[in-house]
Amino acid sequence: MKMSKMVFALCASVAVFSAAGCSKQQANGLSVEEIKKSGVLKVGVKSDVPGFGFFNTSTNGYEGFEIELAKLFASEILGGAGAANFESVTARTRGPLLDNGELDMVIATFTITDERKLTYNFSTPYYIDAVGMLVKRSSGINSLADLNGLTIGVAQSSTSKEAISTAAAALGITLNFAEFSTYPEIKAALDSGRVDVFAVDKSILKGYLDADTIILPDEFSPQPYGVTTKLSNKELADYVDGLVKKWLEDGTIAALITKFNL
Ligand code: GLU
Repeated sequence: MKMSKMVFALCASVAVFSAAGCSKQQANGLSVEEIKKSGVLKVGVKSDVPGFGFFNTSTNGYEGFEIELAKLFASEILGGAGAANFESVTARTRGPLLDNGELDMVIATFTITDERKLTYNFSTPYYIDAVGMLVKRSSGINSLADLNGLTIGVAQSSTSKEAISTAAAALGITLNFAEFSTYPEIKAALDSGRVDVFAVDKSILKGYLDADTIILPDEFSPQPYGVTTKLSNKELADYVDGLVKKWLEDGTIAALITKFNL
């Protein structure tokens, strides 16, 4: 491929080509300096995970531990928490939105795995969760051992299916899986009886707990959450990791975990 064609292909693939052409920095994601110049830090967050990333319709604003982390990054880079611009993401959309340059970083219950490290940069973990299971109170299900032959609802592009499959294999039981693109769809499938279990990280399940359901005590596969940046943007990744390490050491992160009762 000729150089000009290669540059066009790269720019088109990240949707950042302009009249001036596509700069190396744009293809790699914005550097800290470029974010400063842009005046805004674009952060992908969850909108349906209470305590982590939650959109409160009564205040018309985002709230939670991950929202506070995003505001801290905005304060460090741009001098004010208000410079953080939030976009709601799901397990399926958060990676592509980083890849196409729409987001500078993702702070959205994104579990660090060896496989994902080949595609994205992750900071040092700021929180460690575990996969859990939500079932109907009336189901009589008490643990994974009761699930032989039953159907588990999981989200596409999440770590949940592998975590539960590994635990089931160790117990010698067989499960069926149904995959959905969003968590509200899995909850609806649980309510209607299409699936017997809703499995995902416990922090996410808490947002779907109601009078008719319970979260079982079982926990599988630790889920360390990292601040995620584009793989090619090593400069931003190093900067982000430096701050996460500092906030782990100076107690900032521990104070937020306490504040949100996590
Ligand atoms: N934390 C898990 C993952 O990254 C669950 C999915 C999610 O974060 O929505 O796969």
